[in-house]
Amino acid sequence: MTQPKNKVVIFLGPPGAGKGTQAERLAAEQHLVKISTGDILRDHQDRGTELGQRIKPIMDAGQLVPDDILIALIRDRLADMEGVRVIFDGFPRTSAQAEELDVLLEELGAPVNHVPLLEVPDELLIERIVARGKKAAEDGGTGRSDDTEEVARKRQEVYRKQTQPLIDYYGARGQLKHIDGVGSMDEVYGRIQDGMK
Ligand code: ADP
Repeated sequence: MTQPKNKVVIFLGPPGAGKGTQAERLAAEQHLVKISTGDILRDHQDRGTELGQRIKPIMDAGQLVPDDILIALIRDRLADMEGVRVIFDGFPRTSAQAEELDVLLEELGAPVNHVPLLEVPDELLIERIVARGKKAAEDGGTGRSDDTEEVARKRQEVYRKQTQPLIDYYGARGQLKHIDGVGSMDEVYGRIQDGMK
């Protein structure tokens, strides 16, 4: 079966909803490139780049990194692609990012195809994030410095204020699919696949 040259999936959902894990699997099975802005930004921190040093305090506080930085990063990633077969995980996160992404995709002739929204109740999200932070510590690693209860709550608040409006943005275009994010990894994955049919 030949696959379309372009395919653009945007994973929406609050911090801790499991976007990264699900996006990873979908990327592998559908031959898509996963673009996780959280991973890209953490990589800058790990490498100690100038950008990494500048964004560390912002990320540690659970705040959003400025839009212009994100937009430049995404522009860069998409620039040298042959076909645009991508899954965005953690981007866009603000209306300005969503609008700019539309401009970029328009230039590339690759419009958005699917926007699954992973829904998980707030308290379960905090539990998952705190458990992830504890597990990393038990495993002897340092884990993510923003996986504490206090910062997780802040990330949740930032999501509500700045990212939730995107639900209407994509919803108004009929591209949004609400996905119940409670259940096993396989169950949730199955729902995402069904939503993309
Ligand atoms: P989570 O979804 O669990 O919050 P991410 O790895 O997606 O985790 O993001 C971690 C942090 O990276 C965010 O709290 C924010 O500071 C920064 N970040 C990631 N993506 C973006 C984005 N698109 N715009 C602004 N900041 C971002």
